[in-house]
Amino acid sequence: MKKKIISGVLALLIGVMLISCQTNSKTVTQNTADEKLNIVVSIYPLKEFTEKIAGDKADVTCLVPDNMEPHDYEPKTKDFKTLTDSKVFIYNGLGMEEWVDQVNESIKDSKVVIVDSSAGVDVRKEGNAIDPHIWLSPKNAEIQCENIKNTLVKLDEKNKDYYEENYNKFKVELEAVYNEYKPKFDALNKKNFITGHAAFGYLCRDFGLTQKSVENLFAEGEPTPKQLEELVTFCKENNIKTVFSESLASPKVSQTLAKEVDAKVVPILTLESKEDDKNYIEAMKYNLNEIYDCLSKE
Ligand SMILES: [Zn+2]
Repeated sequence: MKKKIISGVLALLIGVMLISCQTNSKTVTQNTADEKLNIVVSIYPLKEFTEKIAGDKADVTCLVPDNMEPHDYEPKTKDFKTLTDSKVFIYNGLGMEEWVDQVNESIKDSKVVIVDSSAGVDVRKEGNAIDPHIWLSPKNAEIQCENIKNTLVKLDEKNKDYYEENYNKFKVELEAVYNEYKPKFDALNKKNFITGHAAFGYLCRDFGLTQKSVENLFAEGEPTPKQLEELVTFCKENNIKTVFSESLASPKVSQTLAKEVDAKVVPILTLESKEDDKNYIEAMKYNLNEIYDCLSKE
């Protein structure tokens, strides 16, 4: 009798699970015509990753406009229209888009396929907060690109080889960046650098470095006088002569700090938004070069 009840409960559970699976997974309709896939991404690096892999098979729209700090973004009415007109929505995940739950809720009954690009990434935390800046690590960028590639293949199987080839080409470029800089950083004694907001945690993990920042993970607010004082002490103790500054996160505080410790200010790129003409690989190499320069000279 007991067995029967248990198996009955089990059957019920499985039934419930099956139903919920069905409602969660959308029927993915194949892109049979030769029309381009209409893809919406949340933030800039995903636009570049998707374009690299999709090539001429998709039109990619980015929700957060250029030169805007995405941590503060609020979706507009027109964004919802853009989204429901699209076939796929790819977002970074891990809390990068504070507004994403609201967006996903509003399109959950539509045909739009929703993709969390962070699936499979080894997440890092700072205190209780999850660090969302995964794309700043070439290793993680590879995982994000693989997730994007798998989505494209699922939606448009006839072009599978094309997507695989584009992904593999870009993967080689990403790995080349890592392989070039990893031994260079390993050979250095100095590992600390100062930046605008705490965006480089995954990059630091890849290359064995440590960041100190003027603003926190979410680029919220300027430091208190006490925090600034701590940064000054840290710079002096570590003989830091370069302060990296982000155009979208308190560049003035970075300048004040630099003046205080007699350091120079060098721009660094978080790629959170499109700020200049550098592509992803160029921006990453620029960052790594500048960090290497600052650590090897000081
Ligand atoms: Zn950020």
